[in-house]
Order: sequence, then C-alpha cells, then structure tokens
Amino acid sequence: MISSVLPTYNRAPFTFVKGEGCWLIEADGRRFLDLGAGIAVNALGHAHPELVAALSAQAQALWHTSNLYNIPQQTALADLLVEETFADTVFFTNSGTEACELAVKMARRYFFELGQPERSDIIAFTGSFHGRSSAGIAAAGGEKLIHGFGPLLPGFKHLEFGDWEAVAEAVDENTAAIILEPVQGEGGIRPVPDQVMQQLRQLCDETGTLLILDEVQCGVARTGRLFAHEWAGVTPDIMMVAKGIGGGFPLGAVLATEQAASAMTAGSHGSTYGGNPLACAVGLAVMKLVSAPDFLAEVNRKSALLRQKLEGLVADNDDIFEEVRGNGLMLGLKCRVANTDVLAAAYDAELLTVPGGDNVLRLLPALNIADEELAEAVQRLDQAAKSVRATAG
Ligand SMILES: *Cc1c(COP(=O)(O)O)cnc(C)c1O
Repeated sequence: MISSVLPTYNRAPFTFVKGEGCWLIEADGRRFLDLGAGIAVNALGHAHPELVAALSAQAQALWHTSNLYNIPQQTALADLLVEETFADTVFFTNSGTEACELAVKMARRYFFELGQPERSDIIAFTGSFHGRSSAGIAAAGGEKLIHGFGPLLPGFKHLEFGDWEAVAEAVDENTAAIILEPVQGEGGIRPVPDQVMQQLRQLCDETGTLLILDEVQCGVARTGRLFAHEWAGVTPDIMMVAKGIGGGFPLGAVLATEQAASAMTAGSHGSTYGGNPLACAVGLAVMKLVSAPDFLAEVNRKSALLRQKLEGLVADNDDIFEEVRGNGLMLGLKCRVANTDVLAAAYDAELLTVPGGDNVLRLLPALNIADEELAEAVQRLDQAAKSVRATAG
C-alpha cells in the first residue's frame, strides 16, 4: 500500500527532533554533525538565535496579507539585495524552482516586448539542476528529471558542461538566454572556470543574449563571496536565489537588472505567498548577518582550513577518495568507491553529508561552523573511509 506521504524520496532512517547550530539530534538521542545543512539551506546553522528572534517577532505581529498590499519586510529585503548586488529589482518566491519559472518567463517576455518574439530559446548545460517544476526540468534536461513527464516545455537547448567552445556556435537569432549555475551543485560540485564565466558574459553582451545565473545553491555567501559570480568579476542579467537566503524558512528570489526586468509590468507575474512577512523577516536577518563585515573573510578562512584537512584526508585514503573540489564551504569529495557507501559509513559515524552527481559527496556546512567542528567532521570522514575499506575487505 502506498505510504501516506507520496513516496518520491528514499529517506535515510533518521528522525531529527532538534537542531543546534551544526548539530542535529535524533529522536533516540544521538547527535549528528550536520555537513549537509538541509542541502545548503541552513546557512547559519539550526536555531540561530537572531533568526529565531526575527521569525518569532514577526509571527507575533503578522503572518500574511498578500501582495495586494505593501509588505515592509519585503521592501527592506529587496532594498538590501539591490544595495549588495548587481540587481536593480527583486521578485520573491517560495523556492528555487519558482525562481526558475520567473527567470525563464522574464527572459522570454523581454524579447517579446522588444519585438523579437522568435528569441525564446534558452541554452542550458548537462548536469545542471534548476528545480522540479516544468520549466526547471526542461531547463536542466537530465534524463532522471524528465523521464515520463513529457511533453516538456519547449525551447531549451542542452550543451555538454565543459564544452565551452560550443556555446558561441549555439547562440543564434532565436536565443533569448543562457542559463547556468556558476558552481553546479546537484551535478557534483562542478565550478565553471572564471575565464569561462567572463567569456559567456562577453558572448551575451555581443549578441544581446541574457545571462541567467542559478545561484540557488552556490549563492548567499556559500562560496566565500556573497554570490559566486563575483569571483569571476562578471554580473548576470537575471539571477535565481533560494536555499540559503531563507536560512531554513522557504524563500527564493529573482534578482534582475532594470533592463532585463523591463517587460515585467503590473499583472505579468505573481505569487500568493512569495515575499510574505515571515519569510522576508527571516531573509532580512540572514542577509544582514552574511553581508556584515568580516563574514565572508571568515567563510574563506574556514574554507581554507577545511580544504587543507580534506586534502590530507584524500592523501591518507586515496583508495576511497580521488579529489577535493569546489570553493568556499561548497566542497565536494570525488569518491573512488560508490559515494553512497561513504555516505552510509558517515551516517554510522554520526556525520551527515549529501550525495551529488559524478560520484561526489557534498560538504555544505553552515557557514558559521566552528573550527573544531570542521576538524571533528574530517575525523569522522576518516572513520567512514576506514569502515568502507574494512567492509570492502
Ligand atoms: C535546489 C536547487 C534548485 C531548486 O530549488 P527548490 O527550492 O528545491 O525548488 C534550483 N537550482 C539549484 C541550483 C538548486 O540547487
């Protein structure tokens, strides 16, 4: 008989009942060190006092009014995002995939209003992930995502991730936008080289194509910059954000330049819950914390520390691990054995990680994780590697 919860997930047999910073407490009392952070969502750990305070205060005052009225928390968060980024304007959603929906709509409508409705194609890359909505799965195009869900939203062209030469040839008179993650998350922590980001920006400028960056996973200080594209010194026209910006409360956003957003007039898009007071009160608290002076420097310092320890781990266990990749606190361990075996052994060591594509184990800790917790995590990974080796015999 089908379970009462639609069985679309293969869940690990844990029931967490409480979170404290980088720790999750199981119903049976075990304490797990959390290097998954709800898939890069709990950017400031579990139950951060300032986020709890922001949510509680807002919950006492007002939950929902709808976007028929002004929402001061939404305006304050949009103002801060505009101040801190390339963007001139922001639309709030409840998730990453909703941000993808709007990014695609915005790009297509932009060319429609320019009198070039034929420019509706969007170029995307293999191994990418843009969420599970119809636009999201069509954009990513992976077989597992689209299997059985046709007819798909048309107009997406997929190029091999890494075959950057092919992009210039693929852009033609029907191209509206290029969409990509500056660092692929689900695809297995695959960063796009800075030089490629610069080439793509230049190609978009030369052809009038819009550059859409999906920073749902790699954004909000995750890579050691507020947004990952800053490493390459380029800016997008449209950017999707979610995950970390809500610190665990559902919140997403589309950020855009005034030009790219110019076709989105009153009535052209909407959301009942998007940008509601609760989500924006928390999002504002998150953004204030991650954009405070020294926050990024600390993320980069911790990243260097973790990386150094992981390089040691790989050297000591080169039959289990192949390499460390990624940047900031978005790191991947490419495995030589099945990543799911290491994941399971890490569970036994009471350490939570997240599997990714390309046989990678993702490490996405809270950005404010303590140095001792990083050291503890690497020790537990070492323990997991030893146990995998012992089992393989
Ligand atoms: C998680 C993710 C999404 C989808 O976000 P949801 O909130 O699950 O809809 C989109 N893009 C990227 C890069 C993601 O990592």
